[in-house]
Amino acid sequence: MSDVIRLLPDSVANQIAAGEVVQRPASAVKELLENSIDAGADHITLIIKDAGKTLMQVIDNGTGMSETDARMAFERHATSKIQKAEDIFAIHTKGFRGEALASIAAVAQVELKTKKEDEELGVMLRVEGSKVMEQEYCNTKRGTQLEVKNLFFNIPARRNFLKSNNVELRHIIDEFERVALAHPDIHFSFVNNGNELFDLPAAGLRQRIVNIFGSKFNEKLVPVDEETPILKLTGFICKPEFSKKTRGEQFFFANNRYIRNNYLHRAVCNAFEGLLTEGSHPSYFLFMDIDPAKIDVNIHPTKTEIKFEDERSIFTIIRTAVKHALGQYNIAPSLDFES
Ligand code: ADP
Ligand code: MG
Repeated sequence: MSDVIRLLPDSVANQIAAGEVVQRPASAVKELLENSIDAGADHITLIIKDAGKTLMQVIDNGTGMSETDARMAFERHATSKIQKAEDIFAIHTKGFRGEALASIAAVAQVELKTKKEDEELGVMLRVEGSKVMEQEYCNTKRGTQLEVKNLFFNIPARRNFLKSNNVELRHIIDEFERVALAHPDIHFSFVNNGNELFDLPAAGLRQRIVNIFGSKFNEKLVPVDEETPILKLTGFICKPEFSKKTRGEQFFFANNRYIRNNYLHRAVCNAFEGLLTEGSHPSYFLFMDIDPAKIDVNIHPTKTEIKFEDERSIFTIIRTAVKHALGQYNIAPSLDFES
């Protein structure tokens, strides 16, 4: 009887892993923007064509990479951000899994240009379906440019699964907005098919919200600011009269990472109780500052879901803080009786 188990070649393993990290153009955009943030950039430009299906490009003025690092960056489980498993519980970067570039390069045609401050020349690397096709020195500015062309060019079934350009573009805009909200101190630009969709200069959070969602938001926002030993909660809620029938502007960030959490969403709704008309949802932009040891960000490859050590206390803190904010701005339900 002969043995039948074989190790998969890297290109196959990477393609399989890519299924988890890169579901659609928007997931690649998110990973690239996060890498630029981790590289300390203060200006990041996103350029896309055809809703990312033919081109996604992210240009940053961050640290850049050395020649060796530029090659290493495309290896699976290759990261500069952690060294041991415990580091995940003290994490201050967006990335740590070392999977994004390996995954993207497994399912697209990628061109990287990067240069560190102290290097004369930068390096250009072209990778296609996990294979390095070309490498040479190039003239480029400090920072990194990553160009992703023809996503899923080598997996026709995945490519056919992509939705219409409108839908895929909406997903990209959603990711862009989340990242831009989490980092108002970074200048973000976004160009789609040659048209500038966003140009967001470095600002405070209030100004960033207004720049993304429109000046009408200025009068809607009520600040939230609460500090407890477990959690610091800051940001804004929108006044109840501006709540909407559709789920829309509801943003939670944990340590500047956008997260989805229905349980904590209910904490906010709970605080608004009696202030909302039937079926409408409060809008909010809430930032949780929490000890990284008290959360687990590694339960999902895209890290949009995280686990809290003490979710019930956080629920209570959020509900209390939001009630408090509503009360301070004289929009607590009891005031209805005075008019
Ligand atoms: P992770 O972000 O989890 O470390 P990635 O595959 O996204 O994994 O990136 C691999 C490595 O490549 C990063 O750890 C980082 O050192 C380097 N890198 C990626 N993008 C950039 C960038 N825009 N600027 C500088 N270095 C980068
Ligand atoms: Mg990354």
